[in-house]
Amino acid sequence: MLIGVPKEIKNHEYRIGLTPAAVKEFVTHGHSVLVQTNAGAAIGFSNEQYTAAGAELVDTPEEIFARAEMIVKVKEPQPNECKMLRKGQTLYTYLHLAPDPTQTQLLVESGATCIAYETVTDSRNGLPLLAPMSEVAGRMAVQAGAHYLEKAQGGSGTLLGGVPGVAPGKVLVIGGGVVGVNAAKMAVGLGADVTILDRSLPRLRELDDIFMGRVKTVFSTVDAIEHYSASADLVVGAVLIPGAAAPKLLTREHIANMKEGSVVVDVAIDQGGCFETSKATTHQDPVYVIDDVVHYCVANMPGGVARTSTMALNNATLPFGLALANKGPKQAMLDDPHLLNGLNVHEGKVTYKAVVDALGEQL
Ligand code: NAD
Repeated sequence: MLIGVPKEIKNHEYRIGLTPAAVKEFVTHGHSVLVQTNAGAAIGFSNEQYTAAGAELVDTPEEIFARAEMIVKVKEPQPNECKMLRKGQTLYTYLHLAPDPTQTQLLVESGATCIAYETVTDSRNGLPLLAPMSEVAGRMAVQAGAHYLEKAQGGSGTLLGGVPGVAPGKVLVIGGGVVGVNAAKMAVGLGADVTILDRSLPRLRELDDIFMGRVKTVFSTVDAIEHYSASADLVVGAVLIPGAAAPKLLTREHIANMKEGSVVVDVAIDQGGCFETSKATTHQDPVYVIDDVVHYCVANMPGGVARTSTMALNNATLPFGLALANKGPKQAMLDDPHLLNGLNVHEGKVTYKAVVDALGEQL
């Protein structure tokens, strides 16, 4: 199969669909790969590395879309990219179609087969192509929180790890899933005093086993949120209710009761945020202050560490990508119901129920 990797064109998006190592895997399996010149340069993947891996460098996205049988990207295609897609071509990338009728309509009109990373599943009811980005965001949440706790960044001037003779900072993680456990690992690594709230008892048991007493696990109630947020230096919002907007668990009143200069990082902002005072921010302008509490609500946190994120994403997307190329998309999806769950649009029709439910009348 001929695979094409265009440069991402969304503002400040530096990730790329395939790393040089992934290109080498496709080439080793007998496929050919077109990579747009300089597509990975911003994150240290040079044209020379791609050529050495066996890719053919191509100057324009037009040529890639015209020639390739499968396009591998990171972000959803922009309107001019959608217009270059065609029937018989496969698109393999994040799509997030439910809130995006314009893109959905353009993909329907293209006639292409569009597989969304975010709806591919695994045998444990997980979302294996979303998990790496949650791992990244969870780890970044504590890194960002620690930074904004510094006095010059608007914080209270608290070192999360403390020092001998000075108590560590308190970190409250609300939601102990993939983001939450990774945030907790970083906070524990820094030496902080960490509490995780979740409303799933089985998950609290798992967390208790993972951390062996090094973090407090607490059942998530309004009372617990009120109690632990009041003394926290850093609160990380990491809840997810699949298919629904995030619940506003930390209210304006809770924020007002927090210590001056404490920091809240709402990772769930991409689902609307789980703090009442959250509004989406960007890497260029990541924080704002309400009631003396610094808010960090960057909607695409993994984009800030685009090199690590690209490698983590490729580890997850590569096996499915190889199956699509080796067997052809149709057979690969017939053989693997989890990959089939990724199919969102096919030959002019929306094939993913949640997208139909969300957009039905707008299509
Ligand atoms: P996950 O499903 O692995 O974990 C969510 C956890 O929230 C579950 O353990 C669930 O039991 C818990 N939960 C649900 N309701 C709760 C409540 N009332 N109180 C406490 N816990 C509750 O999801 P995840 O992969 O960890 O993702 C968490 C959020 O982070 C999602 O909204 C996801 O979209 C978002 N995310 C954002 C970014 C970003 O860049 N901002 C990146 C990755 C993920």
